[in-house]
Formats: sequence, C-alpha cells, structure tokens
Amino acid sequence: MALVMLKNPTVPEHGWLALVRAVEHLAAAADLAAIIAIVRDTARAISGADGVCFVLRDGDQCHYVEECAVSPLWKGKRFPLTTCISGWCMLNNQPAVIPDITLDPRIPHDAYRPTFVKSLVMMPVCTTEPIAAIGMYWAETRTFGTEDLALVEALGRSISAAIAAVDLRESLVESERRLAMALDAGGLGAFELDLATGELIATAAAKAMFGHNPSAPFTRADLLAAIHPGDRDAAAQLFEGGRGRDKAYRLAGSERRLELRGRVVIDAAGAPVRVTGVVRDITERHQTKQRLESLRAELFHVARANDLGTMASALAHELNQPLAAASNYLHAAERLMARDPAQALSAITKAEAQFVRTKDIIQRIRGFVGQGRGERKPEDIERVCGEVLELAHMTSRFDSISMVIKIDTGIAKVEIDKVQIQQVLFNLLRNAVEAMGASSTRRVTISAGCEDGMVKIAVADTGPGLDPDIAAYLFQPFHTTKEGGMGVGLSLCRKIVESHGGRLWHEPGNPGATFAFTVPLAH
Ligand code: ADP
Repeated sequence: MALVMLKNPTVPEHGWLALVRAVEHLAAAADLAAIIAIVRDTARAISGADGVCFVLRDGDQCHYVEECAVSPLWKGKRFPLTTCISGWCMLNNQPAVIPDITLDPRIPHDAYRPTFVKSLVMMPVCTTEPIAAIGMYWAETRTFGTEDLALVEALGRSISAAIAAVDLRESLVESERRLAMALDAGGLGAFELDLATGELIATAAAKAMFGHNPSAPFTRADLLAAIHPGDRDAAAQLFEGGRGRDKAYRLAGSERRLELRGRVVIDAAGAPVRVTGVVRDITERHQTKQRLESLRAELFHVARANDLGTMASALAHELNQPLAAASNYLHAAERLMARDPAQALSAITKAEAQFVRTKDIIQRIRGFVGQGRGERKPEDIERVCGEVLELAHMTSRFDSISMVIKIDTGIAKVEIDKVQIQQVLFNLLRNAVEAMGASSTRRVTISAGCEDGMVKIAVADTGPGLDPDIAAYLFQPFHTTKEGGMGVGLSLCRKIVESHGGRLWHEPGNPGATFAFTVPLAH
C-alpha cells in the first residue's frame, strides 16, 4: 500500500492537521489507554468518518474497547475473530475497504443492521503481529481512492509505532524492576559514574551502604569521603576509570566494609567513558571470616596441646638430660673453684651450654603450641622439617616408626609462617603414623623438592592407604574414620596451605598414602 504524500490536493487540509497533532500526542502516550483515547478523539477528524471504533484482539475474540460515533456501535462487545470484519483484518493483516456493506460477504449483517453504517474501512494495527484494528464507518455508501486511505493508513502506522514504544517502555520498566529485585535479593546496590561529567547515579541501597541519605544527591566526592582514608586512593583510581575494581573497602569512622565490583566501559577509541558496578556490604562476611580464622587457630591449638599432653614424659626426659648435665657441671665447678679456677670456668661454660639447650627445647615447644600469627619469613625447609621430627619423637606414638627425610639440595628458603607450616607437617605425620598402626612396615618419608616455582613437601607412609568411604570427603571437616577423631585436621591443613598460596592434596601410594603440599619459595 503506497502512502500518499502530504499536500495531496484531494485530502482535506484539516485532516492532515489533525493527523499531525495526533502523531505528536501518540509519540508522548504513556500507555495503551492513552493511545486509545487519542484514537477516539482524533480518528474521526482525520478520516472524516461518522464513527470510529478501536478494537483489541483478545485471544480468539475481538474486543470493541472504544468508539466515537454519531450513534452507538459496539463499544464493550466481543465477537469471535472469525465472524467480524476487524477479526478478518487482524487475521489477514491487511485493511478491509468496503464501499457498500450490503455487497460484502465478510460483513455480519445482523450486527450491522441496527447501526447507521453503510460503508467502512478497517485498518490493522500491528507490532510484531496484528494486535488491534481501527474501524472507520460512514453513514452512506461511498468509494475510497488511494488518497482517501492515506490518512487512515498513516494513523494506523503511527498507532502501531506508539504501541511498540509503549511495549518497549513497559518491558524496560519491567526489566529495571527485575534488576532492582535481583539487586535487592543479592543485597547489592548499583552505581554508574559518567567519567566525562563526573555525574554519579547510585541506587538508594548503594547510597545507604555508604552511610548516605538514600533520597539525597550523591556525588563522587561524597562517595570517596565515605571511604576510609587508607583505602581512598584505591577507590579514587577505580572512579577515574583505572584499576581498583573488585576490592573490599573500609568505610571511614566505622567497622563496616563494602565490596565494590566495578567495570570500566570504554568507547570505540578505547578511552574509558563510564564506570558501572555493584556494591555489597561485606561487614558480616568479613567478621565471620575473621571469627573462622581465629576458631581455626584455636582448634589447631587445642589439637597441639593434646599432643603436648602425650609428650609430657618424653619432654621431662628430654629436659632432664641437659638439666642433669648442667647440674653436674656446676657441682664440679664448685669443687674445682678453689683448686683449679680455669677448670671450674670450663665446667661453668659447659653447664651454660646445657642451659641453652634446655631453653631451645622449651622455645621450640612454645612455638609449636602457639597459634601462628600468619607472619611469613624466609625459613630453611630442612630446619622446619627437622624440628617437627624432633618433636614427633617425643611422643610415644612415634616409637618404632622409621622416619626418612629427603630434602633436595639447593632449595632456597621458603616464605612461610613457620609455626603454621610445622603444624601442617605434624598433622600429616600424625595421620601417617596413626594409619600405620597395624602395618608390618612402619615408615614415613618426608621429602621436599622444587616444583613449578614452589617447594613441594610430601609425607608418604606405608599404611593401608585411604579408606574409600572417606576419599570423597577427605578435606571436608568432621569426616573421620577414627574413633575419637575430629576430622578437622586435613581441612585446616589445606586452609593454612592455601592461605600461603599453595595447594594440599592426596596421592595414592604403593602401599600407603602420600599427602603433599606446596609453599612459596622466599624471594
Ligand atoms: P582425623 O585425623 O581427626 O580423622 P583428618 O582430617 O586429619 O582428621 O583426617 C581425616 C581422615 O582422613 C582420617 O580419619 C583418615 O580416615 C583419613 N586419613 C588421613 N591421613 C591418612 C593417611 N595417611 N592414611 C590413611 N588415611 C588417612
């Protein structure tokens, strides 16, 4: 169907003007009701008809929702799509132009008989498919030229466009509502910063998280001021389109922490234009994590203290030796003092050396039952392993176990919290020894070597290997095959190793089990 150009001389001037006004109103229509009202108020002036109807498709029915006519037509009525002319028009997606209704077989004559209608034009209104129709009716039979149809056709297209725009706006509002719901459900706030203008748009939830009045304006400066001075530079970098995304920030003057996940949007030339992102209050998560950390250290501490109990007699024995030796040297020194002061001095020096040995032992034990503060220093791996073995020998359950230690030469120092890594090693050793209770060969091999820029430490035993029932849950807390076991050792060990940037895993041995972990080399 050709659209006739404006200024066609056969079309009355006031019809064009009415159409232009209608198009303006349609462009601003907020919803379908507004569009229908515009059609009702303008379609007659545009078409010169004696009556107009707006018909909506409702499933397999035509619903005559609105009309404006010299006498009543079908407002409020519904007819099956297949029995009325508006239905024909929507089903075929084309206008119906009927100069004389008595001659057209598509007309349901019973419905038209009581009305003034003698001729009509029905225009489909189509978005993705026909969803409505506008009927224009005349009280006399008449013929319609292309020119006559131009205005109603233009009106039909404008209405289609207006409905599509309303649909789009509604789906936009709907998707914004969904986004808001999703943000709400995830406890998230959202923000967007225009890097050119510095304008910051933030959701009410985001403002509240920054301690700002949700209904007050919120600027980049407000946001930065809310962040702890120590973290402000990093946040400023993010809001300048630089790095610093996906980071936790402390808030100024409060214990609270927010996580900002930002994304810098760049233009075609690669220049940053916008920063968009979400913000989440992670205070509780952070506190829980801290509580967990200290609980973990506490648990390990308890486990170590238990081991210390079993060590008590061996410990007494270990300390007795240097103390008895020191005491002997001192007695000798006392005797020699008058006779041979040089010999006496030498005896005192030897006594001193024994005291130093005692002090060493006590310090090592103190370190071992301590909680480890997460401070990492370069440590000598041989010494770390040696001290653990020394302590292990003090507990009776390590009796009759042969311990082999194989450290590759040339390993530089490792960067670790010694207490924590010794606890891991001790735990693996203890598991190995406990697993070998009934084994005829009872040997534990501790080996260390470089692998992929890390140092790999492995504890291999000659026990029966893993119980298949535990394999899947090995690193999950509270899974144990031991009577009286807590089943937390391995999961804690893995956490400690991971906090060092390493991994801890199980390798089946032949026979037995091997547990290996990696720790970083010292720089
Ligand atoms: P617990 O020692 O309290 O059971 P762990 O987390 O240290 O807790 O160990 C979990 C389980 O893993 C143990 O109960 C045991 O079944 C299995 N396991 C650990 N080390 C070994 C090993 N070297 N050989 C065989 N099984 C092991």
